[in-house]
Amino acid sequence: MEYKIPLFKLNFDEEEVQAVTETIRSKWISTGPKCEELETTFAKMLDVKYAVSLSNCTDALHLACIINGIGEGDEVLCPSLTFAASVNCIRYVNATPVFCDISGVDNMNIDPSDIKKKITPKTKAIIVVHMAGFPCEMDEIKRIAEKHNLKVIEDACHGPLSEYKGKKLGTIGDVGCFSFFSNKNISTGEGGMIVTNNEEYAKRLRLLRSHGMTTMSYQRATGHATSYDVVELGYNFRMDDLRASMGIVQLKKLKPDLEKRINVRDYYVRKLSEIKQIIIPFKENKEFVSNYIMPIVLKDSTKEKRDSLRSYLHENGIQTSNHYPAIHKFSIYRSLNANLPITEYVCDNEVTLPMFADLKEEEIDYITNTIKKFS
Ligand SMILES: *Cc1c(COP(=O)(O)O)cnc(C)c1O
Repeated sequence: MEYKIPLFKLNFDEEEVQAVTETIRSKWISTGPKCEELETTFAKMLDVKYAVSLSNCTDALHLACIINGIGEGDEVLCPSLTFAASVNCIRYVNATPVFCDISGVDNMNIDPSDIKKKITPKTKAIIVVHMAGFPCEMDEIKRIAEKHNLKVIEDACHGPLSEYKGKKLGTIGDVGCFSFFSNKNISTGEGGMIVTNNEEYAKRLRLLRSHGMTTMSYQRATGHATSYDVVELGYNFRMDDLRASMGIVQLKKLKPDLEKRINVRDYYVRKLSEIKQIIIPFKENKEFVSNYIMPIVLKDSTKEKRDSLRSYLHENGIQTSNHYPAIHKFSIYRSLNANLPITEYVCDNEVTLPMFADLKEEEIDYITNTIKKFS
């Protein structure tokens, strides 16, 4: 079934086709000059010293845990209201996730006061997720981290160019992780980036993404190196120049795309404010944000009621989603027995509405009127 209004529309046109075609014609398709250009452009846009391209954000989060020295016996504080990858990465390095609740139904980000409560002598780091691109309370989180000597990893997948007090998300903690998966603000199919201002981290990230090898194929092919050493146990987490060439076009389009999304959100907020049973998370936000998704939470609701609203919207040709099912309720994390009442309410009563730059006011009228008819 084709939806009348899909959740997301890819911001692709002939420019991406052209860029990939040129890369194919150049006969260098693996990690090379396009990846380097993407990294340089991304770092400049975020005002951060180093950006290292990767195959996806899951690998970025995995490497973030490694370079921050997280390992067996360590605990890492994280939200449960996120995508599985933000928590799975803790397990890749044999550490234990400790789930923290969110601040409230209107602020779906990790709660600094719950972070404080859950710190133990084993705590090594905090992973924050900037939900929908809205910033976590980074001043307070950094203050806690400094006091207890903890690392801060930002999962900034939802927030390229989003800001917190004049700084770009992903550049405030020790490292920031980004995804270029198809449905993200920047799309390359699969793809990711890790950013940092720490030179040692950047050097190590470049080794770890390519088997721990001291040189890459492109450097050897262009005569800049003739041999290599393997200095630590690395992986193949590289991006390739085909994806990077799409990414370069996507970066050019990003700012105008986000500016249109701001208007889309403003119109949504105006319309949705007329419906009493709906809470609009981050309604009071004044920062520049990416608006990766448009979440709403139903007031005095149940999971059953939420699911029937989603079915009703579906029947009316409107695609919705849920960000997210609670991680601590998944089979592999249930035994940790986390108790997170606000997260649980939001996970059961959240609906993600369509959000993309070209969403029309008439379409938003149709969506909000359909919600009104249901309630
Ligand atoms: C998409 C996403 C990821 C995973 O990114 P991939 O590039 O698909 O590995 C991780 N965290 C969050 C919050 C995401 O939205």
